[in-house]
Amino acid sequence: MTKRSKEEILEEIEEMYLLRKKVMSGEKIPCPKCGEYLIFYGKNSGKHPGIFCPNNDFEILIEYGNKFFEK
Ligand SMILES: [Zn+2]
Repeated sequence: MTKRSKEEILEEIEEMYLLRKKVMSGEKIPCPKCGEYLIFYGKNSGKHPGIFCPNNDFEILIEYGNKFFEK
């Protein structure tokens, strides 16, 4: 197992954040794994809020109340 540097982890967080922002603003973003367009579920969707791939191979869960996700 390779230990990742802080920079790499931060970069990944940044990427996730940008990706989430794009999907939330209505942009069609393909899943990094399979290329299917990602789906966004909001706070009142009845599902856990987040970005999901229709093929269930990728997800970013959004925790409201977490400062990082408030913007
Ligand atoms: Zn996928």
